[in-house]
Amino acid sequence: MKIGTPKEILPGEARVAMTPDSARQLQKLGYDCAIETNAGKAAGFADSAYEEAGVEIVESADALWAGSDIIAKVRPPTEDELGYLDETKTLISHFYPGSNEELMKLAASKGASVIAMDMIPRISRAQKMDALSSMANIAGYRAVIEAGNNFGRFFTGQVTAAGKVPPAKVLVVGAGVAGLAAIGTSTSLGAITYAFDVRPEVAEQVESMGAEFVYLDFEEEQTDGSESGGYAKPSSPEFREAQLAKFRELAPEMDIVITTALIPNREAPELWTEDMVKAMKRGSVIVDLAAERGGNCKMTVKDDKIVTDNGVTIIGYTDFPSRMATQASSLYATNIRHLMTDLTPEKDGKVDHNMEDDVIRGATIAHEKEVTFPPPPPKTK
Ligand code: NAD
Repeated sequence: MKIGTPKEILPGEARVAMTPDSARQLQKLGYDCAIETNAGKAAGFADSAYEEAGVEIVESADALWAGSDIIAKVRPPTEDELGYLDETKTLISHFYPGSNEELMKLAASKGASVIAMDMIPRISRAQKMDALSSMANIAGYRAVIEAGNNFGRFFTGQVTAAGKVPPAKVLVVGAGVAGLAAIGTSTSLGAITYAFDVRPEVAEQVESMGAEFVYLDFEEEQTDGSESGGYAKPSSPEFREAQLAKFRELAPEMDIVITTALIPNREAPELWTEDMVKAMKRGSVIVDLAAERGGNCKMTVKDDKIVTDNGVTIIGYTDFPSRMATQASSLYATNIRHLMTDLTPEKDGKVDHNMEDDVIRGATIAHEKEVTFPPPPPKTK
């Protein structure tokens, strides 16, 4: 069978779902590989590098989709792209089935199997395929780099011949995968880093990375935030008030605030209010990684950067992984290669779409003309 990767068609998307390295590994599983010409160019992978890795270069998207049994891409397919599918094909890409119901029905009606990389279950065995985590890790890192690029001072404190420089103070709100990556990057650059999450179990992780966990003045234990599966649930009004009061106290002191707080299947909670932005010092920077889902700061403008009247820069970009396209493509292509390993137990270049397998079942949203989303909960950890 042949695995093909088309060039991404969303404007500005620089990632690619197959790299020369991943193609070599896919060939070891018995597959032929093909790529649309220049699909890897924006991520730093030239056609010649693919050719050296034994990948066929295909001149057009039409030819690529028509000639591939399995199509691996990054962004959710468009309606036009779904037009290429039939019952002989498997599509692997991000899909966000919860918000793309019509597309999912269309994909199922074509009879193709569709695996959504954003639906890989968050269980230990599936970590190597967990594209949400690999992309969130990059977003967290890049958020700090982007903040630094817009911040006029050092992160680390310095005593120089020309004067003493205080260290920057960074607050990371939400310590999931992206938040922890931001914390690690911030502490390694030398900033004094604080972090808050509604899930108190992350405090130890935060502290082990050299940051200070922010505790609330809340009567009950700070255990409001977690529910099964390790995800956050919406906070009670009292908890939220305590959280906002703490943030109001911190706002004038913080130089950089990185917000990453999300609750599954909901708009991002508003946690950094307008009065907090107004209380921040001129030159401070907010990076809102929740911008895609409405933002943790309501002043955030999605996909843009603004400077407020009091001189605070607010960054609402939603394409952080694409801004590090080489790294993001390598990790994403590796996630896909691991998925293909599970889909090819005999290493014979043939897909065994085993719907009894928790990971494959969990990520499959269309199969044999049926919509198979939402999946049942995984049976294993
Ligand atoms: P996410 O992107 O859904 O949310 C980001 C963070 O925001 C979470 O830590 C959440 O607790 C926090 N948050 C929500 N509301 C908040 C509020 N009001 N104030 C402050 N913080 C708030 O998170 P994620 O990175 O996808 O991780 C979610 C969970 O999944 C975590 O428990 C993580 O450890 C787990 N996980 C498991 C695996 C695995 O086992 N394979 C992989 C990745 C993540």
